[in-house]
Amino acid sequence: MNQTTTSAAGSPSTMDGLVAIVTGGAKGIGFGIARTLAQAGCRVALWDLDEAALHEAKQVLAGEGADVETFSVDVSSVEQVEATVSQIVASHSRIDILVNNAGIGGDRLVSKMDLDFWKRVIQVNLDSQFICAKAVLTHMAENKFGRIINISSRAWLGNRGQAAYSASKGAVVSLTRSLALEYARKGITVNAVAPGIVETPLFATLTEDVKQSLHKSVPMERIGQPEDIGRAVRYFAEPGSNYVTGQLLYVCGGRSLSSPSV
Ligand code: NAD
Repeated sequence: MNQTTTSAAGSPSTMDGLVAIVTGGAKGIGFGIARTLAQAGCRVALWDLDEAALHEAKQVLAGEGADVETFSVDVSSVEQVEATVSQIVASHSRIDILVNNAGIGGDRLVSKMDLDFWKRVIQVNLDSQFICAKAVLTHMAENKFGRIINISSRAWLGNRGQAAYSASKGAVVSLTRSLALEYARKGITVNAVAPGIVETPLFATLTEDVKQSLHKSVPMERIGQPEDIGRAVRYFAEPGSNYVTGQLLYVCGGRSLSSPSV
């Protein structure tokens, strides 16, 4: 297991041995983020609801030499999140990085959306990020070091048929900015990444026609890979990125530039 390398001031100088939680890390973008952080030397804790996918993800990452643990957690449950954070702190005495990635889609026109649907999307995509951040911040503040990276979406700019999803991802940006201000003097940075279209298991289920039209909607004319998001997360997570906080980085092949909402 890697040891954390610290500078004279006590904060880490490299990513070696940093403890990173990636929520929704069993598949899709979260898995790509976990792989990127593991390759950078982090000890990664994958949190997910999907136990079979967690098992598979652990096999793959461990096979690549990663230091990886898995936890079955519902990120919308305060009890489960707090218990898992305590477990990780008990075994590693630190949590350095939290990537709030777990999320669900939510495509439905407002005319067909009831309040329960709306609340579920907000609960999983937004409440969970508050719950997980609150649970780790005390420990990060004690260590005077922390990196929180919240996964938003280009869709926060607004999308027809995505009112709940888009609102949840917009609120993630506001949450990021507020947390950044509250923790700016404690060695903790909080930033957000807004992916565009990324090749995940969901993308694979689309018809060829839909895939083609999505492809054409990206100025770079390629669909993003989970590791594209991982590299942006890694930048925010690095100890050296200590003067960057409250920022939103689009990783979308230029798609945000042609959004009618900008
Ligand atoms: P995905 O469905 O492939 O993976 C999400 C993971 O989160 C799954 O493993 C799922 O089991 C887990 N999860 C869901 N609810 C959970 C809960 N309550 N507790 C714990 N784990 C839970 O999705 P993805 O496409 O990889 O998306 C990851 C993130 O990126 C999401 O926040 C999503 O909104 C965002 N995003 C995705 C895209 C895209 O094109 N795929 C674009 C922009 C933003």
